[in-house]
Amino acid sequence: MFYLRYTIVWPLFGLILFFCVLHTEMSAQFSSKNCGSNLDHSNDPRPFFPSYINLDAIKFVIPASAELLRDYIRHPSVSGSEVEAVDYFQALCTKKGLYIFEMNAPDGSRNFIASIFPLSDGKPNYIFLNHADVVDVPSPEDWKYPPYEGVIAEGQVWGRGAYDNKGAAIVQLMAILQMAEKARSENWNVNFSLLCLSGEEVFSSGGARFVADQYIEVLNAAAFFGEGPAGVQGVVPRKPEEKIFSVALAHKRALWLRLKLTYESSGHGSTPPLHYPNKDMVAAVNRVLKSREKLQFNELNTTILHLLGDMEGGIKGFFLKNIHLMTPVARSIIRKNPLYLSFFANTISLTRIQNEGLSHNSIPNEVVALLDCRLLPGIKTEDFINKIKKQLNNKNITIEVVLETPDALPTRPDVFLYTSIENSIHSVYSDAVVAPMMLQATIDSNFFREKGFPVYCFVPILLTPQILRTVHAKNERVPIVALENAIQITTKLIESIAERSELITKPPED
Ligand SMILES: [Zn+2]
Repeated sequence: MFYLRYTIVWPLFGLILFFCVLHTEMSAQFSSKNCGSNLDHSNDPRPFFPSYINLDAIKFVIPASAELLRDYIRHPSVSGSEVEAVDYFQALCTKKGLYIFEMNAPDGSRNFIASIFPLSDGKPNYIFLNHADVVDVPSPEDWKYPPYEGVIAEGQVWGRGAYDNKGAAIVQLMAILQMAEKARSENWNVNFSLLCLSGEEVFSSGGARFVADQYIEVLNAAAFFGEGPAGVQGVVPRKPEEKIFSVALAHKRALWLRLKLTYESSGHGSTPPLHYPNKDMVAAVNRVLKSREKLQFNELNTTILHLLGDMEGGIKGFFLKNIHLMTPVARSIIRKNPLYLSFFANTISLTRIQNEGLSHNSIPNEVVALLDCRLLPGIKTEDFINKIKKQLNNKNITIEVVLETPDALPTRPDVFLYTSIENSIHSVYSDAVVAPMMLQATIDSNFFREKGFPVYCFVPILLTPQILRTVHAKNERVPIVALENAIQITTKLIESIAERSELITKPPED
């Protein structure tokens, strides 16, 4: 019995676990669904193995997705310096047999679309959006593994961009490649593409904005699948197993304002005048920040209330879930929580107050304040600025719009497409909650939504809240299991769209 256990049972268990956890390419039949995928299993596999097995001596087979992601991470691409990474990714798509169409902006930004069929075929095109640029790494020494090495360890791929957004790009590529041969041999009447963009993190004018303005006709877009919320597991403390995937159908948009106040006042700090620019600006901006933005409830953000209610639990949760019954209490709960508030109101952040570098005891004659405003869909820039002017209550302060992203109307979901997304997620995570929502952040997709195209924003990669916090922070990483499952979800989505379009366009057989 002892012999049996140590020669057959443990190694067999180890082998199954090994295939399930690390999701080798060979292990398609042991899909994560079949072996009860759970994020916890994707971390360090060591506890699952008996101590006498020397894991360091075993060469784990790493799936191609993880290797490709590692290689992509190894091309650092902080916004503004992503050309080399785009070149790498484009060459990879070319090597894998996809058709490439470049859309390079005059400012040097590189963008390209890689498709199963050439765009010149004119087939309705379902486009997955991703961006090549990443945010900076201020203190690489604080990372567990170097941020630009794409280290594969503990069942995860580590590095800047592992999730945002190189991980998503690799998921899209792998899914498209999985269906490409079938699509071509059956000559599908729809096309599927990935669109790689530059400068997303900095609202660059040479990325999505440029492509949407200059090439929208060429793309033959039927719908876009953009960057959006990741799937999360364990966000509701009382339901640690619950997996939530949100599909964003609307975005808040950014409006960046530069306020300036200039006039001469006496200049010495020892005898402050009654009025001087810094003092007046602080008082005026304070009036803006103190004013309460109206809460606005619509179809999309009220679906979030249910989720927030679940997260809160208890009496607060009850009030949030029953906003129509308990409006004043729920409203006060929302106002006290900045995250909740961001879903229901325009927000204003004072991100900088600046002067020329004078000495400590000199009163400057000019002050600039920067406001980062995030507006709900349908709020007009002019109306919003007029309201700010009233609140500032200082006619000498000038307001300049530094940047604004488009005010795009929410996508009215096509029932088939939305259900296909939902079903694809359920094909891997059968018990997941899938809900439509509005995103507080502003991302690339809004430029395409503004042109009137349907845009569904979601990233089918399932993360824990702990891993989600590493996005734009240190130790960004993505579990390999989650990566592989996301490929499966995306492949399923492609397949169901293709099946539907065959039904629609082919004459019925009799
Ligand atoms: Zn991103």
